[in-house]
Amino acid sequence: MSRRERYLDALGIDQWLARAQSVMPAVLPAAVPEPWEALHAAVSGCTRCELARTRTQTVFGVGARRAELLVIGEAPGAEEDRQGEPFVGRAGQLLNSMLRAMGNPRESVYIANVLKCRPPGNRDPKPEEVACCMPYLQQQVDLIAPQLILALGRIAAQNLLATDTPIGRLRGQVHQFGSGATPLIVTYHPAYLLRSPGEKRKAWTDLKLVRAELARRRGPAAASGSAAISPPTM
Ligand code: URA
Repeated sequence: MSRRERYLDALGIDQWLARAQSVMPAVLPAAVPEPWEALHAAVSGCTRCELARTRTQTVFGVGARRAELLVIGEAPGAEEDRQGEPFVGRAGQLLNSMLRAMGNPRESVYIANVLKCRPPGNRDPKPEEVACCMPYLQQQVDLIAPQLILALGRIAAQNLLATDTPIGRLRGQVHQFGSGATPLIVTYHPAYLLRSPGEKRKAWTDLKLVRAELARRRGPAAASGSAAISPPTM
């Protein structure tokens, strides 16, 4: 007690403390994790399905968190499982060329998969695995709030749209994904295009639709500048 406090105490005078001093907790509460961190941590530790037992690591997704375009593939392959990043193998190289040709280079978009873990032997995802993983993807979509989703391949497209319709009939239209009805366009998976290069022409048609939709959503000024695009070397 200070001399002044002892003096006031002796006189029986109540001493008032400033509120900040009197109610300030000794220990500040731990910082609330920001939503991306919390989601990343939840995915990294996920054991919702059997893929947790065989994965090397989860593959969360990469790219611009404010991207106008979200690209979604099927599931990590062997190389993605090893590196922890989607589309880093041969299919990834082709995807990079497709994105560059479209005017949306890899670093400007966000890239994720329907599944965050590699199915052993690259088998197709099981419905229960998709059901376990989809809430993570929906949260990523909510956080990014992209203008458009590009679904790569039949498996991604059918799972995102909850349909059995063949990919040939899903192409060429603007669908809607999830609770926010995010616009979604379907094209072929780059791994399929590596096996069937004759289909690249159709994929380029899809990418032009993506460009046009993005331009339309940016407004008239951007749309008029998007007409002149040359076919890619993809
Ligand atoms: N194929 C996919 O669908 N996703 C990847 O990340 C890699 C290959």
